[in-house]
Amino acid sequence: MEATVEKTSYHVSNDGYYGTFGGAFIPEMLYPNVEELRDNYLKIIQEPDFLDEYNDLLRNYVGRPTPLYHAKRLSEKYNTNVYLKREDLCHTGAHKVNNTIGQILLAKRLGKKRIVAETGAGQHGVATATVCALMNLECVVYMGALDIERQAPNVARMKMLGAEVRSATCGSQTLKDATNEAMRHWINNPVDTHYIIGSVVGPHPYPDMVARFQSIISEEIRWQLKEQTGHENPDYVVACVGGGSNAAGAFYHFLDQESVKLVAVEAAGQGVGTGHSAATTALGKPGVLHGSRTILMQTEDGQVVEPYSISAGLDYPGIGPQHAYLFDSGRGTFLSATDEEAIQAAFELTRLEGIIPALESSHALAVLGRLGASISDTVVVNLSGRGDKDMATYMKYID
Ligand SMILES: *Cc1c(COP(=O)(O)O)cnc(C)c1O
Repeated sequence: MEATVEKTSYHVSNDGYYGTFGGAFIPEMLYPNVEELRDNYLKIIQEPDFLDEYNDLLRNYVGRPTPLYHAKRLSEKYNTNVYLKREDLCHTGAHKVNNTIGQILLAKRLGKKRIVAETGAGQHGVATATVCALMNLECVVYMGALDIERQAPNVARMKMLGAEVRSATCGSQTLKDATNEAMRHWINNPVDTHYIIGSVVGPHPYPDMVARFQSIISEEIRWQLKEQTGHENPDYVVACVGGGSNAAGAFYHFLDQESVKLVAVEAAGQGVGTGHSAATTALGKPGVLHGSRTILMQTEDGQVVEPYSISAGLDYPGIGPQHAYLFDSGRGTFLSATDEEAIQAAFELTRLEGIIPALESSHALAVLGRLGASISDTVVVNLSGRGDKDMATYMKYID
């Protein structure tokens, strides 16, 4: 990772904003924690000793660089040149570990003894429990009671890794409630605990910090593309968006390359107009969610609307503030794919390339035919994760 301070409009401003989005809208009780992070994160993640340890773990523990694979049969089908960035090959099966490794190294340098995290489907909980085992730090993961029931394999993984999984029993007993409990825990243990957020969401500096840890994705894409095609810049970079961390990492080094089209794909669920959707930019309005001003799905009086998607990782009612700005400014193109389209794309990739993608990543694949890419264009799709965790869903479509 190159930890340099970027001075362009699509990156965070000194006071934590992307245009009018971002900021830190938090209860006063959280101020000391967030302030400590804000004052230290840039300095720490640019220290040579931090970078050495981070890069060594990415290489020898996570398995980076992940391949950039020219998918020939998929390219033929869509009459363009498709390259897959293989984040599915990361240790633990997705990009999330790039962030949890960065944050745990930061937590250690801040003298923290315990990690707290929230998780919905359990993927971020597993990535957090993994690095806590690696670094021998205590790990507490809050999870909605309903999600604990629905995601038994990931609960077992977290426990096997030594994490304590605490049930959030209020409200809808899902991610939102787990996030509240984790925040409360952090407020009550400010001195010895670090809160690892799993996406480019939350109060400043989280969105910027997580984007920097995930920016290794586009850093690698640039040199890998140069090696394979002679050009650093593709014509399109396509990624799915839940909170937006894999997309933020895949876009990062192309933000100021205006010739590179940045395509974010949200989960339309059963369809944008059906009331069962997670297509935030299509359905949402500006507001404050989890500590930052962004775009979120809400009712007339500002209550958060429960999102729906077949893929648990995209089932989030907002997007990170940088994505809200990319949408608002027109720098990013926001599309959506339905459950059905994602399933079809998953089977298509599997049959054409022998790669079973995560349901989340399948949303990005689902828009390949809609980009308007030509035979001479280069399209990079960020394959954020592998499909092992989704086999129970895929099995329903196998006869
Ligand atoms: C969690 C997850 C996502 C969604 O999170 P982002 O922060 O939007 O990247 C996407 N793909 C996979 C495989 C995931 O596990």
